[in-house]
Amino acid sequence: MSLLREAERCLANQHAHNLNAFITPLSRSGKWLDRVKEADQRSEKGTPKSAIDGRLISIKDNICTRQLPTTCASGILDKFTSPFNATVVEQLEGAGAVIAGKTNLDEFGMGSHSVHSRFGPVKNLRRDSAGQEISAGGSSGGSAVAVAAEQCYAAIGTDTGGSVRLPAAYTGTVGFKPSYGLISRWGVVAYANSLDTVGILGTNTSSVRNIFSILNHHDPRDPTSLSKSSRSRILAQLQNSPLSTRLTSKPLRIGVPLEYNISELTPSVRTAWLLSLAHLQKQGHTIHPVSLPTTKHALSAYYVLAPAEASSNLAKYDGVRYGTRGDGPDGNGQADGVLYSNTRGTGFGSEVQRRILLGTFSLSADSMDNYFIQAQRVRRLVQRDFNAVFSAQHPLFDAQAVDPASVGAGASAGAEVDVIVCPTAPSSPPRLSDLTSESGQSSPLDAYVNDVFTVPASLAGLPAISVPVTVAESSRDSGADIDELAGIQVVGQYGDDELVMSVGELLA
Ligand code: GLN
Repeated sequence: MSLLREAERCLANQHAHNLNAFITPLSRSGKWLDRVKEADQRSEKGTPKSAIDGRLISIKDNICTRQLPTTCASGILDKFTSPFNATVVEQLEGAGAVIAGKTNLDEFGMGSHSVHSRFGPVKNLRRDSAGQEISAGGSSGGSAVAVAAEQCYAAIGTDTGGSVRLPAAYTGTVGFKPSYGLISRWGVVAYANSLDTVGILGTNTSSVRNIFSILNHHDPRDPTSLSKSSRSRILAQLQNSPLSTRLTSKPLRIGVPLEYNISELTPSVRTAWLLSLAHLQKQGHTIHPVSLPTTKHALSAYYVLAPAEASSNLAKYDGVRYGTRGDGPDGNGQADGVLYSNTRGTGFGSEVQRRILLGTFSLSADSMDNYFIQAQRVRRLVQRDFNAVFSAQHPLFDAQAVDPASVGAGASAGAEVDVIVCPTAPSSPPRLSDLTSESGQSSPLDAYVNDVFTVPASLAGLPAISVPVTVAESSRDSGADIDELAGIQVVGQYGDDELVMSVGELLA
């Protein structure tokens, strides 16, 4: 199919399905059409700019675009258009891609179901067995649904604690979160800087890999972007490693974290996990139980650290220097407090306000030691657990400097593995009505629990991918559409992004 036909089909799908995946959809006409036609000509001549030349790629609405507004799904930015493009947008356009619109999300990326949006909840294309609407996952739910409904070729999201992987699992798409610092965050509105990553959603791993190769470069404008010298060092370390043949001939050692085998796993998720392991085993890879003992504390640590960073990041939206201004006197002196509270009280939604309060509390002088500092310690332990089970060394940690007492702390002796394979989420997507209605059965804590398997890799900055796995025919007999798919996650050592994608490919 020509690129133009493909683009027109995406556009038609954007207008045909009312899934609320976009805050700003693609306009029906515009310069973008010419750009696709030019890409078609390049492709006919056999000189495409890249593998994504002329393809439509959606951008989560917390990533800055000069041509389209960037709202973060928040009232506080509802009239904001950035004067510049984020680096990732520049990179995509430089490779010939066309921006397919800005996708809906949980406000500022805070949420797990894409229901906390000023523009209304995102709807999953899939339904449950009773035909009810279900969560699309979040916070990059709009990006995931846009991919699932073929409203674009692929989409960009952000993943701070699972926001690309969870919606991928709920919508049956592939969602990849790279190692922290590989993709530039310049122009990405910060939620929790030490955890934020830009992630990629696609229908298959090869489209994700194509986009990753375009975005995986040092950006001098992002102080947390991995330097060129560190990148070459990591590459050299991987090439020199005895495991460099991992992707070709050598059987892989697959780790199964015992702590992820919780009683709350729904049967379809457990089945998908077992099927994936059996599938890998059949291909000659070996399965090894590993222990990540700090897993049970990771979620609480994340929900202390992420809101703490968020409360600081969101302080700038005060209606004076930045953001949509609420009612109130804007003179000097005491009256400013009224302006601030009106602006923030009306501009931010309830979940964002909850996070700001949580974060401000845990950073306050009396609580700092008991919450924030403890959570930082847990984060260290989570990183240590992973380092103990991976056969590859963390390329940014000095092996000599590692506390000897910690070596092997999380692993049974000799159980070093190449990657870890586990579910992306413990259960199937909940019903949208339970999440949105006043009488709904779901509490904020229920939403936080969905991140239990995704936050550990985020705390450790590791690469992880979620791929859709179809559950066996026998379970399909129930006719329950919702039970057909579950997201399975592959997590690797820092810098092992290619390996993670390759194992994802084996499973998908
Ligand atoms: N659900 C998590 C949160 O609300 C993760 C969000 C994200 O990755 N952006 O913090």
